[in-house]
Amino acid sequence: MRIARTLAEFRQASTELLSAFDQPSFGLVPTMGALHAGHAELVRAAVAAESVVAASIFVNPLQFGDPADLERYPRTLEADVELLESAGATLVFAPSQQEMYPGGEPMVRVSAGSLGTVFEGASRPGHFDGALTVVAKLLHAGTPQSAGYRAYFGQKDAQQLALVRRMVLDLNFPVQIVGVPTVRSAEGLALSSRNRFLSTAEAGAALVLSRALRLLAERAARHEALDIDSAAALINSEPLVDLDYLEVVDPLSFAPLAAERRETPFTGSALALVAAKVGPVRLIDNIPLGSAG
Ligand code: AMP
Repeated sequence: MRIARTLAEFRQASTELLSAFDQPSFGLVPTMGALHAGHAELVRAAVAAESVVAASIFVNPLQFGDPADLERYPRTLEADVELLESAGATLVFAPSQQEMYPGGEPMVRVSAGSLGTVFEGASRPGHFDGALTVVAKLLHAGTPQSAGYRAYFGQKDAQQLALVRRMVLDLNFPVQIVGVPTVRSAEGLALSSRNRFLSTAEAGAALVLSRALRLLAERAARHEALDIDSAAALINSEPLVDLDYLEVVDPLSFAPLAAERRETPFTGSALALVAAKVGPVRLIDNIPLGSAG
């Protein structure tokens, strides 16, 4: 596995690696490092489909609102490289902040639009503009010449995935976006780089989030009324969990389910979203409902 530190090295290494194939295809897996089994799953999905798979590791300051959150974000490059190698990646792109933003903060940025201001965007103003800006830069950095091109993102960050799909559609990026299902602990907690900041008691309490989502998915599968309030009450019964939102939305627009569909037997497809503060950590999770599942 090769490690590129600069854009020039990344381009050169990917061109060289792709040249070994008759019908090359390139898979990019953007990450912020502190990798876990969820990230490994993205890499494995890419390895199964592409001739060359590159993972990027870059903690993007533009998408952090709180400087303390950026400061304490875990950085575990050595272990990350090992995990990527064992998952079968061929190339790692681990640029410095100076390499990605040589002139400091970029003047021109991607605007996530209205979908960037609701749910996670409401709690973290500017987060999705910053995330899409770095994803745009990484997608451009990785664009292979004359090869198939796909980029892999986790369904865990459903709003980010929806926004990346919209950016690629709205701005004609020459890449196909692949969503990979969320990887969870045996008990159901969605894996996240920030889970390491949870105490044992907090990690136990956090299980109520996936339990509430599963409850909604089961009701949807049985075509019952969702009764979102009772699922929210389940979360609120856990004192260590401070619920921000539990909502059922349209999977593309993220518009909340219309009032009449909340009270009547569930049909069609939707996405249940949850966000909560647990101890020092903000956790998000989601589950597809109905035919979206
Ligand atoms: P991050 O390093 O947290 O920015 O995440 C990098 C990529 O990994 C994003 O596409 C995430 O959606 C994805 N990811 C993070 N956690 C999981 C998980 N538990 N299961 C699947 N994908 C994940």
